[in-house]
Amino acid sequence: MLDCTPKEITERKSGGMINPAKTCQPIGAMYAALGIHKCLPHSHGSQGCCSYHRMHLTRHFRDPIMASTSCFTEGSSVFGGGANLKASIQNVFHIYKPDVMAIHTTCLTETIGDDVSSIVKTADVADGKFVIHANTPSYVGSHVTGFSNMTKAMVTYFAESTETVKKDQINIIPGFVNPGDMREIKRLVESMAVEYIMFPDTTGVVDSPMTGEFEMYPEGGTTVPQLKDTGNSQFSLALGRFASSDAADLLSKKCNVPAVVLKTPIGIKATDVMLMTLRTSFSREISKELEVERGQLVDIMTDTHFHFHGKTVAIFGDPDIVTGLTEFVVSLGMRPIHVLTGTPGGSSNSVAGSFEDDIKAILEPAGIEANVKSAGDLFTLHQWMKNQPVDLLIGNTYGKYIARAEDVPLVRVGFPILDRSVHSYLPIVGYRGAMRLVEMISNALLDRADRDAKDEDFELVM
Ligand code: SF4
Repeated sequence: MLDCTPKEITERKSGGMINPAKTCQPIGAMYAALGIHKCLPHSHGSQGCCSYHRMHLTRHFRDPIMASTSCFTEGSSVFGGGANLKASIQNVFHIYKPDVMAIHTTCLTETIGDDVSSIVKTADVADGKFVIHANTPSYVGSHVTGFSNMTKAMVTYFAESTETVKKDQINIIPGFVNPGDMREIKRLVESMAVEYIMFPDTTGVVDSPMTGEFEMYPEGGTTVPQLKDTGNSQFSLALGRFASSDAADLLSKKCNVPAVVLKTPIGIKATDVMLMTLRTSFSREISKELEVERGQLVDIMTDTHFHFHGKTVAIFGDPDIVTGLTEFVVSLGMRPIHVLTGTPGGSSNSVAGSFEDDIKAILEPAGIEANVKSAGDLFTLHQWMKNQPVDLLIGNTYGKYIARAEDVPLVRVGFPILDRSVHSYLPIVGYRGAMRLVEMISNALLDRADRDAKDEDFELVM
C-alpha cells in the first residue's frame, strides 16, 4: 500500500522512477502486430519477457494472446541470438503457419546488439510469407513507443506506391486504443461513406467471439494487400501523435501520402475535428445519424454539467489518451490540475511536439494552472495529489493504490486495466464514447456523494 508516500517533494538526484506510469516497448509492439491479419508476434529475447508481455495483454483484453520467442539461454546471451532467431523463423512458419511474423527486440537483444535487420533480410521465407521487425529497446520510451515502432515497421516493409493517381481512400492509424475504439472509429468513417484502410486493426483479433473452437488466427486484422495499398491512399489520418504520427510521417516520405495528425477523437471537440477533416477532404455531408448522436451528447453534457463544474481531477496514462481526456473533461467544466504520462516527451518525426505543450494549449485558454509532466511516475502523481487533493482520479488500474491511499474515486480508462472487464469492447472515442465517459465520470462522482452524504442530505434525485 502507498500510505507512506511522503507529502514533501524532494529532488531525486538519481533520476530513477518509482512506481512507473508506463510499461515496456515490446508490449506495444506485440499489440500492434496482432493488428495484422494472420500475424504471429515474435519476441526476440528470453522466454520471461515474452511471457510477461503476453500475460499483460491477456489480462487487459481477457483473450489468449499468441506470440513466439527466440528462447534465449545463457549461451545466446553471451554469443548473440542470431542462430536462435534463424531457427525461430523456420520453426514459426513450419509449425504455426502465420502469413506474417512480426519480430520485436527486447532489452537483452538490444544490449547484445543483435542485427535483426540483416537476419530478416537473409531469412529463407516462402513466397506469400513475410517477416518484419521493429527495434524495441525497453530502456527507451514506453509501450506507446513500441506500438509506434511496430506500426512504422508495417510501412517500412509493406507500403508501396503503385498507382499514378492516388486512390479515393485514406489510411487510418488509430493509435494504441482498444478494439472497441477502433470499431467506433471505423463506424464513424463508414457513416461518412469514406473508403479507408485501418492499420493496425485489432478488431476481431483480441475481441473475437467465443465460437467453441480455438482459432490461432481470428478473422480480424489488416491484411498484407491492404498494408501494401496504404501507399496509394489520399492521405493518412494519424490519430494520436505519439502512437501514430511516426508511421504516417514515413508513409509521407516513402509513398508521398500526406500525413494529417489529429488528437485521438476523445470528446466532442476532437471528434468534430476528425469528422470535419473527412467532410472537407471528400466533400461528404455529416450523416444524420452522427448529427443526432452529437446532439444527444450535447444534451447529456448540459443535463449533467452541474455534477462536473469546478471538480478537480488528476489524469495519468498514455499521452494520446491523456491529451484527449484532458480536453474532454475541460469541456465538461472540470479542472485537471495534475496531468502526467510515463511516456517521454515527443516522438522523433517532424510532426511531433511535446506532451507538456499539448496539455498547456488545452489548459491555458481555460485559465487552469496544473502540474504537467511527461516521463513522470506515479510516485510524483501521488505526491502532487497529497499537496493538492482532487475530487477524482482518471487512469489505468495502477491508479487504484493511489485512489485507496487518498480515498479518491478512480475512473478506469487506458491501458492496462487488469481488475475490471468489458472495457476493451466499449469505446471512449467518438460521440458514443464521450457519452460513456460522461456516465463513468458522473457515476463515480455521484456514488462518492452518496457514500459521503449524511442521512439528512442523502438524496433520491440527483
Ligand atoms: S527485460 Fe526489458 S523487454 Fe524484457 S520485460 Fe523487462 S523491460 Fe520488458
